[in-house]
Amino acid sequence: MVVAILALQGAFIEHEQTLHNMGIETIQIRKKTDLDTPFDGLILPGGESTVMGKLLKELDLFDIIKNKIEDGLPVFGTCAGLILLASHIVDDNTVHFGTLPATVVRNAYGRQLGSFYTEGNVEGLGQIPMKFIRAPYVKSVDDHTKVLSIVDEKIVAIQYKNQLGVAFHPELTDNHQIHQYFIDIINQYTVA
Ligand code: GLN
Repeated sequence: MVVAILALQGAFIEHEQTLHNMGIETIQIRKKTDLDTPFDGLILPGGESTVMGKLLKELDLFDIIKNKIEDGLPVFGTCAGLILLASHIVDDNTVHFGTLPATVVRNAYGRQLGSFYTEGNVEGLGQIPMKFIRAPYVKSVDDHTKVLSIVDEKIVAIQYKNQLGVAFHPELTDNHQIHQYFIDIINQYTVA
């Protein structure tokens, strides 16, 4: 299995290290030809969604990645990555990939102004550490999007078919359970 990590900006190295610790091979996506290497899943890291959205277009990566997600490529967005996937952003007409039916609020997580650490329950995984950094939260989802975690009455982890989105940064903690959850999605969606 090879997992691609969008490596334009933000916390991509930490995802890479987490996956390497789990014994999983990764490649970095920085330019169009990087997409020629076969891969089984894609991580969209945290960072700044506006910057990543712009670079994706400028580097001609946007349409190819969007089509792959629509065709069933397993994708995992963390924080800004979740914003890239979301179908709606509150008070903003911008839609990036828009493939994950959910409405997100940017830079607006509850008690958070800068960043904070907490623990929260994720369906099927139990209590896991969560690091939030200028995080979004999910305001609403459509009927087919599964809510996996709610912290402080806000939705912070969701799944829609091949797409997993979390508002926090699992790659910045030692707990690999969410990454394992994503690997399980890849195994489930990869045609043998
Ligand atoms: N605030 C950032 C955004 O809107 C997300 C922050 C993060 O990824 N840690 O893109």
